[in-house]
Amino acid sequence: MNIHEYQAKQLLAKFGVPVGKGIPCTTADEVHKAFDTLGEPLAVVKAQIHAGGRGKAGGVKLVRSADEARSVAEELIGKTLVTHQTGPDGRVVKQLYVEAGCDIERELYLAVVMDRSAQAPVVIAAAEGGVDIEELADSRPEAIAHHRVHPVKGLQAFQGRAIAKHLGLRGAQAKAGAKLVASLVKAFMALDCSLAEINPMIVTKGGEVKALDAKMSFDSNALFRHPEVMEFRDLNEEDPKEIEAKKFDLSYIALDGNIGCMVNGAGLAMATMDVIQLKGGSPANFLDVGGGANREQVTNAFKILLSDKNVKGLLVNIFGGIMKCDTIAEGVIAAAKETGLSLPLVVRLEGTNVELGRKLLDEAGLNLQTAVSLDEAAEKIVKAIA
Ligand code: GDP
Ligand code: MN
Repeated sequence: MNIHEYQAKQLLAKFGVPVGKGIPCTTADEVHKAFDTLGEPLAVVKAQIHAGGRGKAGGVKLVRSADEARSVAEELIGKTLVTHQTGPDGRVVKQLYVEAGCDIERELYLAVVMDRSAQAPVVIAAAEGGVDIEELADSRPEAIAHHRVHPVKGLQAFQGRAIAKHLGLRGAQAKAGAKLVASLVKAFMALDCSLAEINPMIVTKGGEVKALDAKMSFDSNALFRHPEVMEFRDLNEEDPKEIEAKKFDLSYIALDGNIGCMVNGAGLAMATMDVIQLKGGSPANFLDVGGGANREQVTNAFKILLSDKNVKGLLVNIFGGIMKCDTIAEGVIAAAKETGLSLPLVVRLEGTNVELGRKLLDEAGLNLQTAVSLDEAAEKIVKAIA
């Protein structure tokens, strides 16, 4: 799960990360008032969407008066921002964050990510911030420092000092920098984050070291431990189909192809997507009905797949283990009838009661094709939508 910049800053401040004063707003009037409340000569109006790259897309504006703040807000609220992280559809701005402006001396990059190969969180730091870290990783990988965080002991003091040095910080700034890094790591560990990124971390003209931007993502499986984080969930930022799927305990992830896939188990889902690609097709999603799905879940899964207007055909690839193939077949038949399915449908079942399952499908009088192997199934659906 992701949260907004202003929410991340609220959380990080509790762990001792220095952030600017700011006020979240939803209307231009509130933004006007917020400028006066901050009482600074310079403020920044920032679009709150769950994506970076807002600055380049016009979603971060410096303002010098309450009136200017209001007119920037009027322009931004309701606007669809397209950044390099939003995809071509962009995101509609519904919230703004008005923050006291800073005079920036240097922009640095700092992040903590869960690194599976290191089996621990890793701190990533670069003296060149504000820019795309991906570009820097390509052009000058040596400019990026990596420090593995011990999963039990946490970040060691010497690591904090080394990171501050890599960032080019000296004296009191190095101390402040090392403290910021330590606070960020603490927040990351305590809140079960998968990412905590500060880009840019800045040194101001006055010599202050602080977080100018903040992005946090959380491990959804640990959210039950963090009700304070869960409150920050913004359904506006999530795919409605994914929200609907969660209600029925289905795992759904939207992709950008056109073949809807109903599968059970993440491994089988991955294999199915691979074989579709291999046959020249492209999956529209990843829908995992789980090991023990019932007929109702299969029906709901179908409805979710069909609500995606990019879907041109459906592939059901299910292994009947806990869930028997005849139950799945009944679910598929009921769902196809209930939704008046007119798109091509290919069903491949394997496992317990597979013969009975295939028989039910063949006799259902529906316009569907069955397949015995995954290869055959993928080939058939790719051909059917061509
Ligand atoms: P992002 O583009 O979505 O990552 O948004 P950021 O919060 O990182 O802001 C983008 C850029 O706007 C930063 O890299 C800064 O260069 C600039 N910016 C943001 N806040 C301030 C500020 O208070 N003062 C100045 N001078 N520039 C700012
Ligand atoms: Mn940023």
